[in-house]
Amino acid sequence: MKCGTLLLVIAGIFGASLPGAAASQPETPSLTVCVSGDISDYNLVVAGPAAIFRRIGIRTKWRGLNGCPADAIRVRVLKTGPANLPARVLGCAHPLDGRDAEVYLDRVNAAAGAAGDQRTALLGYVIAHEIVHLLEGGETQHAGEGVMRARWSSSDVEKMLWRLDLTDDDIELIRRGLRERQAQRAGAPAAATAALQ
Ligand SMILES: [Zn+2]
Repeated sequence: MKCGTLLLVIAGIFGASLPGAAASQPETPSLTVCVSGDISDYNLVVAGPAAIFRRIGIRTKWRGLNGCPADAIRVRVLKTGPANLPARVLGCAHPLDGRDAEVYLDRVNAAAGAAGDQRTALLGYVIAHEIVHLLEGGETQHAGEGVMRARWSSSDVEKMLWRLDLTDDDIELIRRGLRERQAQRAGAPAAATAALQ
């Protein structure tokens, strides 16, 4: 599990510039994400992660858990985080199963403060962060800046109202993970098929 991460650090000491968006790939991979939970501004919340993935050439479809396709990612937005995790952990992913993640609404709301639009943006970015862990699978890692940073600063959270990007390394790992998922969907890898013939 990738749980002991995604803490929020209230300190505006990180001013590094973020990389620009990567060029879109010619073939647009798509990803279905099933989100459950009591989210009042659902469309606004998912617009954030949808834009993050769109900027790197991945089209996303968002829906509820009912009838969720077998190859989709599932994100459960829970009202409260589990007591056995530190209070500042905002979400948790299970990269080895590549499918399930959780986000803790009470902690996101507390971290974002009073501003409603900042809460919406932060929730979207936590969802995106956990989805990236799932897409990257066993190789998943945190980045020194941007969406996949282990600890966001208050400056990072402010940037979320406009945009916070993935790093080039994140994007490479995501694309590799997507290729592996597509190969798994298609059945046995080509080399294994050839060996059977
Ligand atoms: Zn993380």
